[in-house]
Formats: sequence, structure tokens, C-alpha cells
Amino acid sequence: LIKMKKNKTIVIASHNSGKIKEMAFFLKKISVNILSAKDFNLSEPIENGKTFEENALIKARYVNKKVKKTSIADDSGLVIPILNGKPGIFSARWAGKSKNFNIAMKKLNNLIFKKKVNAYYVSTLAICWNNRKEKTFTGKIFGEIIWPPRGNFGFGYDPIFIPNSYNKTFGEMKIKHKNRISHRAVVFKKFITYLNK
Ligand code: IMP
Repeated sequence: LIKMKKNKTIVIASHNSGKIKEMAFFLKKISVNILSAKDFNLSEPIENGKTFEENALIKARYVNKKVKKTSIADDSGLVIPILNGKPGIFSARWAGKSKNFNIAMKKLNNLIFKKKVNAYYVSTLAICWNNRKEKTFTGKIFGEIIWPPRGNFGFGYDPIFIPNSYNKTFGEMKIKHKNRISHRAVVFKKFITYLNK
């Protein structure tokens, strides 16, 4: 079991500022010191895993090894069952080098012929400490894809994702609201429950 002492440093293994911000929000609940891969000038490891879990572990292991501090990585994405799980682990890569999610959302919409399509977001957290001690957790939120995109909050595919039993897209929800229900909220709840065991 990982021990989280007060004011322990955790390094978020990410360069995605939207994601770092959301993860930092959840980590605030366990008084730890938060840094990110950006603070160490680290490059990004090659994410050649075949699953969210493998990719999360690749990122967390890389940072733990380089920085020798407990590190936490999230690998996440949008999964569309009728598209055989696309974009899935390739969610970020669909936006290209310029990370333009208007392109990614359009690409997705071009593959969807029905008006409303079921989808879910996945977030897998990997925690890595003391060189190769590790644990993963997974959270999901189910919903549907709509077109055209709505709202400017959030990031990535948020303007086209409506969580079940809501009528706003994640892009239309204030971050506070998204953070109460998102896949990342679910996974951090699991993680914090584990820490408090
Ligand atoms: P990763 O950095 O390889 O984990 O890629 C995650 C990608 O999945 C992001 O760049 C987004 O495209 C997508 N994604 C994951 N979580 C969210 C979210 O909460 N909102 C919108 N897009 C997300």
C-alpha cells in the first residue's frame, strides 16, 4: 500500500495543461505538494501501449524513474462502441500535432451517421512509486455524442459529449460541475478511497 504523508510531493506525468489542472483539483483533497512533468523539463515517453492502463503506466513509470518521486499519470479518452471503440487510446492523436480538437471532432462526426450515438469517457490512473511499485484505477462516465459542438469550457471532445441524464455538454458545464461527475471524478474517488484504507 502506498503511504501518502502530509506534504508529500506527487508529480503529475502530463504536459496537457487542461488535464494537469483537473488532476490538481482532485489531488487538493489529499494535502500533497503537486508538481508536473512540465516543472522538470521532461520529454514525453512514447505511448505505445495497447490499452489505457498500459499507456498510463508508461507515463507514470517514466516520470517516477526520471524524478525519483511518486508520480501519477492519467491516460484517458473517448470511446464509441459502435465505432469499435474509436478514438479510444488515440483520442489525443486524432487532433494532430497542432492539437486541434475541431479537426478531431469533425473527423468523429464524419464517421457517425446516426443523430445520437452512445459514448463514454475513460480515465485510468497509474500511480508509481519507489521504482516499479505501481497501481492502477479506472473510472468511466457514459453519455452520448451530439453535433454541432456546444460550449467552450473543458477541453478535447467536451463540446460534443453529453453525460447521461444531463442536457448540457461537458463544454457547457462549468469546470466545478464537470469535476463532480466526470470519469476523472470517478477514478480519483477510487484512488482516494484506496489511500484512506
Ligand atoms: P492522453 O493525454 O493520451 O491521455 O489523451 C487524452 C485525450 O482524451 C485528450 O487529449 C482528449 O482528447 C481526450 N479526453 C480525455 N479526457 C477528456 C475530458 O475530460 N474531456 C475531453 N476530452 C478528454
